[in-house]
Amino acid sequence: MVAAMATATQSSEQLHSYNPATGESIGSVPIFSAADVDAAVARARVAAQTWSTRSFRAREEELTAFRKALAASADEIAELLHRENGKPLLEGYVEVMMALSHIKHAAERAEKALAPHKVSSGVLANFRATISYHPLGVIGVIGPWNYPLFTPMGSIAYALAAGNAVVWKPSELTPLVALAIEKIAKKVFALPDLLQVVTGAGATGAALAKSAVDKIAFTGSAATGKRVMAAAAERLTPVLLELGGKDAMIIDDDADLEKAAEAAVYGGLTNAGQACISVERVYVKDTVHDKFVDEVIKQVRDLKVGGDDGHLGAMTSPQQVSIVKDHLDDAIAKGAKVHTGGPDAISGSYIQPTVLTNVDHRMKVMTEETFGPVIPIAKVASVDEAVKLANDSKYGLGSSVFAGKSARAIADRIRAGMTSVNSVMAFAGIPTLPFGGIGDSGFGRIHGDEGIREFTRVKSTAENVMSIPLNMMSFRQPKDATKRLKGMIKQLYGEGVVAKAGDFMRKLRG
Ligand code: NAD
Repeated sequence: MVAAMATATQSSEQLHSYNPATGESIGSVPIFSAADVDAAVARARVAAQTWSTRSFRAREEELTAFRKALAASADEIAELLHRENGKPLLEGYVEVMMALSHIKHAAERAEKALAPHKVSSGVLANFRATISYHPLGVIGVIGPWNYPLFTPMGSIAYALAAGNAVVWKPSELTPLVALAIEKIAKKVFALPDLLQVVTGAGATGAALAKSAVDKIAFTGSAATGKRVMAAAAERLTPVLLELGGKDAMIIDDDADLEKAAEAAVYGGLTNAGQACISVERVYVKDTVHDKFVDEVIKQVRDLKVGGDDGHLGAMTSPQQVSIVKDHLDDAIAKGAKVHTGGPDAISGSYIQPTVLTNVDHRMKVMTEETFGPVIPIAKVASVDEAVKLANDSKYGLGSSVFAGKSARAIADRIRAGMTSVNSVMAFAGIPTLPFGGIGDSGFGRIHGDEGIREFTRVKSTAENVMSIPLNMMSFRQPKDATKRLKGMIKQLYGEGVVAKAGDFMRKLRG
């Protein structure tokens, strides 16, 4: 039993965290009230004021110390991820490694990504135009349970590196992981309130969305994302929404089928299919469909579910098991063929990996987020049909393509935030690539330079560097100003353009 670790709350209400594999309680944590959340945000604001004045170098040093301390605790964190989320221990370590790679990248990259830069001043050539980036202040991060460390860290690390403080509301299903991270942060950062965790369920998240934070970075379902956006609208607080997905994989007839099957099996089943960028549906060219399906089934039959060395762990919540069962029942009722697993092979929190064929878009399993270990494979007559079906979705998060020479061209036609070519999920592990979606998958980006700038306000500065006779920001104009302006309009923007704006202004200055 893990004792409650949060300290900064008066609330006596407790929330239990359970091991999904056994159903036993592995710890309890406080439920933060709205007043507790507001107090945490106020403390964060004080920390942010100091942190924002630190040099990039100084922030990088502290973030590096944080990263090293997390790496030193990798065993403890991976074990907690395993116990609290249900994922296999190996996947716990993968998650720790991915999170660390983003902390390292954000810390090292922030100075370059946020360097002020000059831009053209156009027709106002007597001005120096500069864009600069400044921390927002306090970022509220609301996280999900499927990747309790990696996912929120995609916001936390980038927000901290950009000079903000963070208040983090983890999922009620995985609060212990967050508290373990907060404990390490408090030891490492000179400002103990720089990264605070507020535990609780939806009401605590709602309180954070309504609080005086300067931005909310939310990761979770589209339904909750809408509620968060509505709550944040009260104060016009900007939001970054990383929501669900229905990622498609397209396989053309010249693809390496063994590699494609390996990717579909991993992408569909890692974390028991509970990944926002899981392969949720596969479209295969008819000429290679049967061969591909045979290869997928062969590889799936080698997998082990449960146990310390299992490839698939327990589903994190009973609600998720019910959703998966509902999608399978619906698909089977509408004609899907089950090759492995299936609804009858569900036992408690374990779902056997399920391969379906003969699926189509009348079925929930092809249109709604299943979020379980299910690989539905559809046969298509052409790549055009595959692209059309892949794009027939309200979601647009990740995607993948397996093909020969035309792979990149197919990838460009998929309407999604990210695509892996002859690979799966790779974009999430490359810290320089922005991560995020479109449509019901949300908006805004974590990771990459965009992910650092996401936690800043953009400032434009126009600096007058010399005087010119025709100053357009003044009523004190020469008598012939109208005539001169008419000439300028013709010459700069009309028929027979004679000069670029800058050249023209240089001429005007003489
Ligand atoms: P969820 O929407 O149920 O909960 C997410 C978080 O929101 C939790 O911390 C929850 O307590 C909180 N919350 C609930 N009600 C709230 C409210 N009214 N106001 C504010 N916060 C509230 O999502 P989940 O089930 O924890 O996570 C699974 C979902 O997350 C899936 O849809 C998955 O695809 C998505 N996800 C997306 C990404 C991404 O980067 N795009 C990454 C991981 C997970």
